[in-house]
Amino acid sequence: MFPERFLPWRNTWWWPRWRVPSFLMLHSVGEAVTDPCCANNTIRPDELRNLVRALVDEGYEFRTFREACEKGDRRTMCLTFDDGYADNYQVLLPILRELNVPATCFATNRGDASFPRERWSAEDPIPADAAFLTAEMLREMEASGLVEIGGHTAGHTTLTKLSLDDARREIDDNKAWLEGVLGHEIVSFAYPRGGENDQIVNLVREAGYRYAAAMVKKMRSVAADPYRVHRQIIPRGMETWKSVLLATRGKWKI
Ligand SMILES: [Zn+2]
Repeated sequence: MFPERFLPWRNTWWWPRWRVPSFLMLHSVGEAVTDPCCANNTIRPDELRNLVRALVDEGYEFRTFREACEKGDRRTMCLTFDDGYADNYQVLLPILRELNVPATCFATNRGDASFPRERWSAEDPIPADAAFLTAEMLREMEASGLVEIGGHTAGHTTLTKLSLDDARREIDDNKAWLEGVLGHEIVSFAYPRGGENDQIVNLVREAGYRYAAAMVKKMRSVAADPYRVHRQIIPRGMETWKSVLLATRGKWKI
């Protein structure tokens, strides 16, 4: 019998890939780890450069989250960065310019000096020196023509842990701030920690969002559910060939 233990037939990189765009989920970019609780969330600049170059060489075309949802195909690759860390401006933006690829950053209100600290989620202890995208940074990133800004709630609380009224407030306050800063409607959203259910999806839709990035594991078409778009996590410290397989094939084992 075929030894599935050694060559598992499920979730393997050698399967033909799904005919859907690939969405990658990242957070910080930097040599130093931004959040010591989630070291894997900070990809090194060279790891990101090498991954993007390898994917471009393989013929993938990079799109923002909105574009990938609207008209992505199997050659579409989408970089998304959650949480709105300031290194997305300081480190990521120069890399996007250098490689001329777009990305989407899902930002909270934590870079707004007038946003009360009591409303910051206590779920992940934020290092005291962590910095978040300010209004000026968000505007400059968008003005580069390479960055789409999306919503990620005001204080980064897991929405499924809140009352519906509080969840709506988290979604709406974030959207209002970002739209005030950028001067136009935003249509893309990501659930903090992937926390969603049917009621939360309804709130996101009612707020006016058209697409939402989740953390569901299975690759599928955006049309199947534009409010639960699959993303693949790309961790820190992974060799390029492995992260390319992860990005293009989803979960893999060998
Ligand atoms: Zn997040």
